[in-house]
Amino acid sequence: MKTLLSKEELHDGVARMAAEIERAFEGRQLTIVGVLTGSVVLVADLIRLIHQPMRVGVIQASSYRGATTTRGDLTINSELMLDITGRDVLLVDDIFDTGHTLEKVVAKLHDFGPASVRSAVLLRKEGRQESTYEPDFTAFNIPDEFVVGYGLDYEDMYRNLPYLAALEPDDLERHRSL
Ligand code: 5GP
Ligand code: MG
Ligand code: MG
Repeated sequence: MKTLLSKEELHDGVARMAAEIERAFEGRQLTIVGVLTGSVVLVADLIRLIHQPMRVGVIQASSYRGATTTRGDLTINSELMLDITGRDVLLVDDIFDTGHTLEKVVAKLHDFGPASVRSAVLLRKEGRQESTYEPDFTAFNIPDEFVVGYGLDYEDMYRNLPYLAALEPDDLERHRSL
């Protein structure tokens, strides 16, 4: 695996984004909605760096895919979500790739009558976007490589790595024996 962002670099980027979010939501009550499962590590770190009153909840979005770039059908499950009616919502996801996931989840959130919906992502892959939607806050722009760690998985593994790494072909070999 090739490390793209160290633990320290991740912390600095998330702290920078937290400060931006604080400025943008100053004096407002924030409702954070994390997209399961990839955003759990980011949400845990981010919310402790934002020093203002907030509610925290989750929504689930799943599309079946591994290291490939083919897009599966996206399923959004909002049953676990908190009430966002009339709230200023910040949707948090791990990575913005084609943009379809975030665009669809934002559209879904609007069904619940929030006051506003903005979005924050840890990573944005350069040159991959297929939708006109863009996240309001981005911690890092990264090259087009399949990355794992800090919440991001390959076949549900590697989410616990404290750094961000790009998977290489020999990692896939090793992965099969884990
Ligand atoms: P999009 O709909 O923007 O193309 O894809 C967003 C979702 O695809 C992310 O929430 C994430 O689950 C998955 N994804 C896209 N690129 C990567 C990547 O490089 N690594 C991992 N682990 N997941 C990715
Ligand atoms: Mg995801
Ligand atoms: Mg995944």
